[in-house]
Amino acid sequence: MPCYTSKLPVGRYSEMMGDHGTKVTICGRLGKHCADCGDVGHNLCDYPVGARGRTCDRPICNDHSHQVGPNMHYCETHFRMWQKTAERQGVLPLDL
Ligand SMILES: [Zn+2]
Ligand SMILES: [Zn+2]
Repeated sequence: MPCYTSKLPVGRYSEMMGDHGTKVTICGRLGKHCADCGDVGHNLCDYPVGARGRTCDRPICNDHSHQVGPNMHYCETHFRMWQKTAERQGVLPLDL
């Protein structure tokens, strides 16, 4: 059974303590690990790569995924690329 390093959601108390989530270990069949940490890869990067509508498909956790639209997530690297392109074109990315 695979194990994951996840974080407890940041609540009032942990915010007061300047804590950004307490690490917890969870085990179970929860799918792929995040490509950037040991958390559960809840989302897949939807950044288009190459032809034929292929996408990056990198598994990314909620922390490392960036929502760019309804049901659209980009991984860290692709989010930065996307942001740069948007800035160049004078289109500011939506602040989601
Ligand atoms: Zn992650
Ligand atoms: Zn990606």
